[in-house]
Amino acid sequence: GPVVVWFRNDLRVKDNLALSKAVDSDAPVIALFILDETARAPRKLGGARRWWLHHSLVALEASLAALNIPLILKSGESEKLVRAVVDESKADSVFWNRRYDPPGIAIDTELKAALKDDGIHVESFDGQLLHEPSKTTTGSGGHYKVYTPFWRALDAGTPPRDPIGAPRKVTNNAKDLSSDKLDDWKLLPTKPDWSGGIADSWTPGEAGAWKCLDDFIAGPFDAYAEGRDLPDRAGTSRMSPHLAFGEITPYQIWAETSRRPKEVASEDRTTYRKEIVWREFSYHLLFHKPDLAEANYNAAFDAMPWRQDKDALRAWQRGMTGYPIVDAGMRQLWQTGWMHNRVRMIVASFLTKHLLIDWRIGEDWFWDTLVDADPASNAAQWQWVAGSGADASPYFRIFNPMLQGSKFDQKGDYVRRFVPELAKLSDKYIQTPWEAPTEVLSRAGITLGKDYPRPIVDHQKARQRALDAYKKLKEAA
Ligand code: FAD
Repeated sequence: GPVVVWFRNDLRVKDNLALSKAVDSDAPVIALFILDETARAPRKLGGARRWWLHHSLVALEASLAALNIPLILKSGESEKLVRAVVDESKADSVFWNRRYDPPGIAIDTELKAALKDDGIHVESFDGQLLHEPSKTTTGSGGHYKVYTPFWRALDAGTPPRDPIGAPRKVTNNAKDLSSDKLDDWKLLPTKPDWSGGIADSWTPGEAGAWKCLDDFIAGPFDAYAEGRDLPDRAGTSRMSPHLAFGEITPYQIWAETSRRPKEVASEDRTTYRKEIVWREFSYHLLFHKPDLAEANYNAAFDAMPWRQDKDALRAWQRGMTGYPIVDAGMRQLWQTGWMHNRVRMIVASFLTKHLLIDWRIGEDWFWDTLVDADPASNAAQWQWVAGSGADASPYFRIFNPMLQGSKFDQKGDYVRRFVPELAKLSDKYIQTPWEAPTEVLSRAGITLGKDYPRPIVDHQKARQRALDAYKKLKEAA
């Protein structure tokens, strides 16, 4: 009978072990994607990722059609729908590539057992991560809480497997099955359609992922160690949304960045790999702490006196805090669905420390607006910045947005790009417009409080308030 390949975070045909194994069986192959937004399902995708999913499914359907494999779309409870497709197609096998978010793991484990009980052959494969998060253990058998020993252990271990190519074309046709229409899922925004800037910045799908990787390897890769920290240029790979949807695998990235180009300094290659391994580390943490996006990893932070402040939150979300580097980051996020890592740290620090707003509120905003929103990395990184995480940045280390701006966006090009109302301001005041003399502001065509906000909090006072809150927390512990 036919084989059903259930696609989830693996919207690609190359290095897709489940798909290749199904094709190798010589049976008809049915590809299935389920939009599951029921209670038990993985966290519902935010707006930016729904936009991406639509386009990535369009691309996947075309690549599968070229292999003579139909893509069946269903929406509703995954367990029921996988069974319904198995029954309708009279399939005797179901294959999938593993996923690592806790609700996904729970569904897959149960479904695997139930299908096997009914005599259906089920197999799962790797692809999303280089290392099974459950299998990496410390010398004493526990899980890693600190990144560096985690990296060292992986670096000294077995290197990742080689990626495989696309499967051959299937000759044995599957019979027609009922499918939803993608447009009926209404994944794209309509009123208002905010996706223009995102569409200009990205090409979802497997071909887009490879173009992105090729551009990186031919370009900024050979200066990555230094360039990755500078938001005013394209110094990073921008692979994160492609990885989040599994349009490319970390195995492929690992192999390509070894093979090409030979002249890349080992420092650049190693620094890049260490970032890929940060993603692995985040999944390792999530596996051992399934409520990573909901609860403080360090429970002492449960006593943190977070503030409720709707106006400040809204100013942060809209990029209207009066701190140019923060506002540029939040606007880059809104316009393009992505933010540079250095600036993610700055804006997250600003929310949790200067504004003393709970990191979970920031995590949730990122979840809705990032095209690369990831259940492990987003939660782990928010907790890292907030100070509540494993191996976290200490809470008392409070980023100074002016210094961060002048160090990492030296000429202010990043600010000028995303906060155009400051474009005519000189380099000297680009990170601190409130310090500029009135005649400098007026020459740049800016009236503070009208064209661009004054700072919503005073840096020194906000800093002190955060330190005081932290002191109370420590006294309570
Ligand atoms: P590159 O510098 O080219 O790195 C290559 C790859 O390594 C990335 O695609 C990513 O998969 C991985 N990586 C790099 N840095 C990190 C990191 N610090 N943690 C985990 N993986 C990393 N990344 C996400 O993928 N999804 C998120 O939801 C997410 N939320 C974040 C929230 C905050 C508050 C912070 C500070 C960081 C967050 N990151 C998240 C990590 C990082 O900012 C992005 O992975 C990175 O900016 C993606 O751009 P890139 O692909 O060009 O990165």
